[in-house]
Amino acid sequence: REPYLGNPQATIAVLNKYGFTFQKKFGQNFLIDPHVLDKIIRAAEITEDDFVLEIGPGMGTMTQYLAYAAREVYAVEIDKSLIPILEDTLSDYDNVTVINEDILKVDIAKLAEEKNGGRPIKVVANLPYYITTPIIMGLFESHVPVESITVMVQKEVADRMQVGPGTKDYGALSLAVQYYAKPYIVANVPPNCFMPRPKVGSAVIRLTRHAETPVQVDDEKLLFQIIRASFNQRRKTLANGLKNYEGLSFEKETIEAAIAECGFSPSVRGEALSLEEFAKLANVLGRAK
Ligand code: SAM
Repeated sequence: REPYLGNPQATIAVLNKYGFTFQKKFGQNFLIDPHVLDKIIRAAEITEDDFVLEIGPGMGTMTQYLAYAAREVYAVEIDKSLIPILEDTLSDYDNVTVINEDILKVDIAKLAEEKNGGRPIKVVANLPYYITTPIIMGLFESHVPVESITVMVQKEVADRMQVGPGTKDYGALSLAVQYYAKPYIVANVPPNCFMPRPKVGSAVIRLTRHAETPVQVDDEKLLFQIIRASFNQRRKTLANGLKNYEGLSFEKETIEAAIAECGFSPSVRGEALSLEEFAKLANVLGRAK
């Protein structure tokens, strides 16, 4: 059956039928715009071969679109009052499994193994903004087999994921995302596409996982510690940032020598360095350990 949710009338009808009240603590803003939904499905390149994990299905609006396009959909919703609603709105789709769980507690690697023979899965979500970063970084860092993540996030967060050095939005999130994936902003989505309307603008971003990371480092953990240290105190020079960071214990001289060996200015700031340059520094410092 073709999706029928995703417009204001159908959404209101379901809300009224179940007397559902939105919960702020779960970041509930439901999509009510079919054009945006179409765009997300197209950007995610869902085909009938795909196993899709949806995080936070809400009342099942995007789930209907996903179920219509994919082989199988697995939707994880934390709010138990939405479960009977989902049973109703998804009753015409026999390729959807809904579970009532916190996504941060789901073993996604196991899921991919059981449901998709260990092949990379696609993740699609209109994420509650407060857990965007832990979810995305968790998926990447745990090396779960994921082919792409197509998500609705706060516009500002989408910008941060996508930019390079020399812009104010550039930071640890940009580098972490770009180490693992190629970001592409699919669409900006204004507040009136949701019910209730969020206070901020949103954007759909697609993160396509690199087959191979664009830089090679001997120690991934060290790379990310260095990145975090450099942006921890933005106004400080890179050398000072690295010296003052708790997680790192390099001597001042070692840090200065490594910066010089990389060919960076002694007064360089972390925000000026590209991913390649951070990788170079991580490899030089790693050898000094
Ligand atoms: N996908 C729906 C849509 O587009 O209309 C709903 C999107 S709404 C922004 C986010 C959804 O994620 C809500 O249904 C909320 O209850 C759910 N959610 C929030 N935190 C969650 C978590 N930790 N695990 C799973 N679902 C969560």
